[in-house]
Amino acid sequence: MRMLSPDMETSTLATNLDTQTAPLPIRVTIWNEGRYEKNRPEIASVYPVGIHGAIAQALNNAGGIQARGVTLDDMEHGLTDEVVDSTDVMIWWGHGHHADVDDRIVERVHKRVLAGMGMVVLHSGHFSKIFKRLMGTTCDLKWRDTGERETLWVTRPGHPIVEGIDDHFVLDKEEMYGEYFDVPEPESTFLISSFEGGEVFRSGMTWTRGAGKIVYFRPGHETFPTYYDKRVQRIIENAVRWAHPLWGKVGYGERKMGWVNREQTNPTGS
Ligand code: ZN
Repeated sequence: MRMLSPDMETSTLATNLDTQTAPLPIRVTIWNEGRYEKNRPEIASVYPVGIHGAIAQALNNAGGIQARGVTLDDMEHGLTDEVVDSTDVMIWWGHGHHADVDDRIVERVHKRVLAGMGMVVLHSGHFSKIFKRLMGTTCDLKWRDTGERETLWVTRPGHPIVEGIDDHFVLDKEEMYGEYFDVPEPESTFLISSFEGGEVFRSGMTWTRGAGKIVYFRPGHETFPTYYDKRVQRIIENAVRWAHPLWGKVGYGERKMGWVNREQTNPTGS
């Protein structure tokens, strides 16, 4: 006997079951400003295919992930309805041009996060319009760009995002970010960094907004080859797998009937 009802929740469940039997690749869109790589030769030499390109290569080699990169200067910043709607997890890297991101596009991405798209915000993306919108705070922090040693300590052993990571790892040269970092209290803090200068920073945190899972991961200043580091790549890969939505669609609205009378009032199951 078929138990399908006219409301949307059943078809959502069906979609979910289909993907469990035949897992589809996680569709990742990496958003990058992409201007430094064009305008500053010293950064182009570190990331010849762009920061988005470097991250996409690592993710596409990881298995079960289909990653593409888009940039600020693409049409609609590369985030057309079609692209956003076909993204399971978005990764965001921005720095000098947050203000150039059109509010309509921010609105589009925000809506999709609330509907379940995962969002992984990297490094200076902390000041992006989308992250500030999702957090509701200033997202401000302390910083110093002198290229100093960063030690990242795992504070949630067993958390899926730090799977395969030792109890700590070191990046020889990075920009310093220091507390206080003005974000809402996270649901989990999986990494804390210490820097040569003595500052500390919550470098890996998670939140939920609507049905969407959000990750902030700190490293990745554009002048350093951070996104080639295997530990950094592993954490981004883990974050993508953790944040990808398990449900295709969230159902809202009026329910014409409850469970008890369902078969009686819909005897054909059509
Ligand atoms: Zn930076």
